[in-house]
Amino acid sequence: MIPAVMQAELKSIWGDRVLFNEPMERHTSMGVGGSADALIFPQTLRDLREVIDFMRSREVPYLPLGNGTNLIVRDGGYRGVIISLERMNGFRFRDEERNAFMITAEAGFDLAELVKKAAEASLAGVEFLAGIPGTLGGAIRMNAGAYGHEISEIVRTIYLVNGKADLVTLGRGDLRFRYRGLDLPSGSVIAGADLELRRDSEKDIRRRMEGILEQRKRKHPLGIRSAGSIFKNPPGMPAGRIIEETGLKGMRIGGAQISEMHGNFIVNLGTARAADILSVMETVRKKVLEAKGILLEPEVEVVGEAE
Ligand SMILES: Cc1cc2nc3c(=O)[nH]c(=O)nc-3n(C[C@H](O)[C@H](O)[C@H](O)COP(=O)(O)OP(=O)(O)OC[C@H]3O[C@@H](n4cnc5c(N)ncnc54)[C@H](O)[C@@H]3O)c2cc1C
Repeated sequence: MIPAVMQAELKSIWGDRVLFNEPMERHTSMGVGGSADALIFPQTLRDLREVIDFMRSREVPYLPLGNGTNLIVRDGGYRGVIISLERMNGFRFRDEERNAFMITAEAGFDLAELVKKAAEASLAGVEFLAGIPGTLGGAIRMNAGAYGHEISEIVRTIYLVNGKADLVTLGRGDLRFRYRGLDLPSGSVIAGADLELRRDSEKDIRRRMEGILEQRKRKHPLGIRSAGSIFKNPPGMPAGRIIEETGLKGMRIGGAQISEMHGNFIVNLGTARAADILSVMETVRKKVLEAKGILLEPEVEVVGEAE
């Protein structure tokens, strides 16, 4: 818990941009999770540096949050401060540089909006992100990808606030992306990034985008709470197929169920708690290991304390 004195201090600095004991089920696509001691909404880079400096000097743990679409907070909540980037959502087109077209956006910028703006400007390269419901910062941290592409391919620069609250600029050569991840120094938060796109016809871009959205509609359980793919795909076969072949589709614990439509989605039927989802994940891992000798690795990030 954050001591009352510190709460008062945070309130006096952040006013209505800080919430205390905020249920994280309201801020994650899974719709589960206990309360965070505090949830803060910086609006500018300066705010973000101030928050991090404050937390560092008082040794309070903190965690960045985008749209919460790849995050499960356990039922006991998060002891510390969650920093929502949702209000840091600036965006601009940059001048052409050496035949590349650049977009600079803040971490809280919505991927759907990014895909839309790029298409309107006849800029290609982000169509594969269509239908991924995250923010730019979350997508970079997770190295989000689909349909044969990953965001690492188009990230040219990252603006990072490190654990000492300094702004650091990292170029492509400094970035260690891996499958569904980017190694960041501990305590750092992505504030924004430059993306490198290329010119193409708007018609072709829209055709590709719509093709992807169509496939997602056909294959994924949309319109029900989930966190997208729960497990990473091991080499050779998609996790969804492995889970399906193990006969686990439709398996249910409490309010959490392996989607009938896609084996790698766990859906919240409405009453799920984080513990139900984690139990489904554990059961899947155990059964898949027994049946196939494959240990599935979670793709989704799990934080906080059990109840
Ligand atoms: C229906 C559905 C479909 C999906 N499809 C895909 C898909 O095709 N491909 C795919 O890769 N993912 C997919 N996802 C998962 C998710 O949308 C992506 O991982 C997305 O990039 C997460 O972004 P976010 O802003 O929601 O991040 P969050 O869930 O808020 O955060 C995820 C992690 O990143 C960290 N983080 C967030 N913002 C920052 C920041 N600014 N700086 C540093 N760390 C940060 C968080 O602390 C957390 O550890 C899907 C999810 C859903 C619900």
